Amino acid sequence: MFADLHLHTNFSDGTYTPEELTGHGRRLGFAALALTDHDTMEGCARMAVACATAGIEFIPASEFTAEHENIELHLLGYFLDTTHPRLLSELAKFQIVRQQRIREMVARLNALGIPLAAEAVFALANCAAPGRPHVARALVQAKQCATLDEAFDRFLKKGKPAWVPKFKISAPDAIALIHEAGGLAVLAHPALNKSDHIIPALVAAGMDGIECFHSRHSTATNEHYLMIADQYHLLVTGGSDCHGMNKGKPLIGTVKLPYSHVQQMKDLLARRATAGGGKLVNPAPRS
Ligand SMILES: [Zn+2]
Ligand SMILES: [Zn+2]
Repeated sequence: MFADLHLHTNFSDGTYTPEELTGHGRRLGFAALALTDHDTMEGCARMAVACATAGIEFIPASEFTAEHENIELHLLGYFLDTTHPRLLSELAKFQIVRQQRIREMVARLNALGIPLAAEAVFALANCAAPGRPHVARALVQAKQCATLDEAFDRFLKKGKPAWVPKFKISAPDAIALIHEAGGLAVLAHPALNKSDHIIPALVAAGMDGIECFHSRHSTATNEHYLMIADQYHLLVTGGSDCHGMNKGKPLIGTVKLPYSHVQQMKDLLARRATAGGGKLVNPAPRS
């Protein structure tokens, strides 16, 4: 039995609908799937229905855009209560600042003589979490750029003329919010952030796990993060980070996490519940 605990739909910057993504998961024989759209849980309700119909266990989740010591990092929150009032109000704030960011990027493009309306970007986004990929798609659609890469290289990459910094929640605040909403906090794709040196601070803030397996991690990287997870007594998770098709094939299926890791996540939550919901202190790291 296998799980994929890192998936995006068109409720953030993925291209599949929740139903299409679940269909791929079913064909690939997954026992459990988590939906981790960026800074939103809006796709979870539809994904839960699709998974129930397909006989797949569904884990409601989100991928929070966070920062620590000026480093952007992504924190995955798993088994979130999708009705939790403070979590919903924090995610609503993300939605507002993401839309403001799109308007600022479009204003910068307009100032460069590129005709584009923010509404054209929102129309492509279909969602609560519009981002740079949607601006890039709108630029291609408007024939202002030939490819998505060109849109990023000319305008949207960090430091390029239409780039606007992204709002990020502080990592300790994100971890606290995830715990308050009944979830587990996991550091996403650590190798992509080159953030090893802040892992001790995240563990001290209560982080529960680390995404050791990811489609852009090498085998050596996987091993490296398995050692770190062992050292700090962290949960081990993994996922493809599928946003749709990749090189002609769906990216889902490229990472198959043994289900035993999902069971360990559920066991930790059960232990926490019997401990009265209080914060459990992580044991001292192995040296
Ligand atoms: Zn990410
Ligand atoms: Zn992701």
